[in-house]
Amino acid sequence: MKEKCAVFGVYGKGLDAARITYFGLFALQHRGQESTGIAASDGQKIRINKAMGLVPQVHKEKNIKKLPGFLAVGHNRYSTSHGSSPRHCQPVGGKDNLLTLAHNGNLPTVANLKSFLNSAGVKTSGLNDSELMYEAIVHFLKKRLKIEDAIQKAFPLFSGVFCLVILTPKKLIAVRDKFGVRPLSIGKLNGGYVISSETCGLDSVGAKFLRDVKPGEMVVVDKKGLSSYQIAKGTTKLDIFEFVYFARLDSQLLGKSVYEVRKNFGKQLAIEHLIDADVVVPIPESAIPVALGYAVATKIPFEYGLSKNRYIGRTFIMPEQHLRDRFVELKLAPIPEVLKGKKVVLVDDSIVRGTTIKKIVKLVKNAGAKEVHVIVSCPPLKYPDFYGIDTPSQQELIGARMSILQIRDFLGADSIYYLSYEGMIKATGISEDSFCTSCFTGVYPVDIAERAKDVRYEKNSSINL
Ligand code: AMP
Repeated sequence: MKEKCAVFGVYGKGLDAARITYFGLFALQHRGQESTGIAASDGQKIRINKAMGLVPQVHKEKNIKKLPGFLAVGHNRYSTSHGSSPRHCQPVGGKDNLLTLAHNGNLPTVANLKSFLNSAGVKTSGLNDSELMYEAIVHFLKKRLKIEDAIQKAFPLFSGVFCLVILTPKKLIAVRDKFGVRPLSIGKLNGGYVISSETCGLDSVGAKFLRDVKPGEMVVVDKKGLSSYQIAKGTTKLDIFEFVYFARLDSQLLGKSVYEVRKNFGKQLAIEHLIDADVVVPIPESAIPVALGYAVATKIPFEYGLSKNRYIGRTFIMPEQHLRDRFVELKLAPIPEVLKGKKVVLVDDSIVRGTTIKKIVKLVKNAGAKEVHVIVSCPPLKYPDFYGIDTPSQQELIGARMSILQIRDFLGADSIYYLSYEGMIKATGISEDSFCTSCFTGVYPVDIAERAKDVRYEKNSSINL
């Protein structure tokens, strides 16, 4: 099971932690729309509400009222081709009142973790990576270790990518893997602390950004305040795809505004590919600042040529292909007045399978566009993801299967231009070593162990890379 999610946590005397978590999760809804959960504690007892659905559907007023307390954690879950199941709603555990855990990321291999648990007599069948992590921490807790020590003991068994928020009846704990692939930030709120996958979650509840949780760090918040433990030596390898697609426009990653970086992607695309066109049209939402950047740099007018139904989720997140297909039309409507007779630059953030953009090119052409030139704010995705953004297998990635010209023909576009790898890095203003770029380069900073067999490289590959 692969997951790409949001995590959130709150600790503060006098705060209605579950309610604050609700608003935090609401701001982080873009990171996962399949299920959501909140666990809160009043200092004595952990109570949980979790189910399939969006944040406002699952956490109704009557549910939030049943979650009293000044500390809480929350989770939004995203799952794709691997199917969805209410069984895997998070936070995990909590019934025994020991702890409950929420995870963003993915462990490409759980072999060591499983064999450790099996040899300790813990049943592991049917458990996903997050549940296995939970079991390992519980195992050490039951050996009468303090929670801080139990997590430190279990940490080396977690081989992969994880941002965890953990709740015990009295403590809120945040842990980040030693490469910091997924984002995790800390904020201050009324003398208490808030943890959020993205800074937009902090802003939405009025918390002031303090700093990011460091790679390899465990942060414990309890009645003594905030304590930090560096469990493992950390190296920053933030997934660059957070800038390209996942993060919300108003978030900051590694101190940079996502909005500004996306606008720079557009400016850089203008340097790399100047197209003779009448109008620049973004595919909403992630590509809007890219299109603005491109339009400003090229002086080609920016127009909203596609109107998006605001009440529809991210189509990619629909687990099954036939649902995804139908959703493109439900989600986007062309504006013929903008498109008719025009040479259109159509701007997308990324192309994964190519399903979405193919349909949009058709929509735009059917609305009367004379030419459609697609520009994309990242290079072709050629390698699978194992770290929690759940792109499909390499065979399904259009960038791994086809050449640029083949992609152009498949999409029915007049031309297609991707941002160069160097251009993408340059536009972030951050050095290349601070990023995980595996989906573009096939370089996996976190060991992918037995999953390496799922990756083919150009030389001896049957795939046309
Ligand atoms: P596709 O139809 O498979 O090419 O989907 C590509 C679109 O889905 C992109 O334009 C993005 O807006 C979005 N997207 C890209 N990567 C992901 C991902 N890992 N999870 C969800 N959506 C994504």
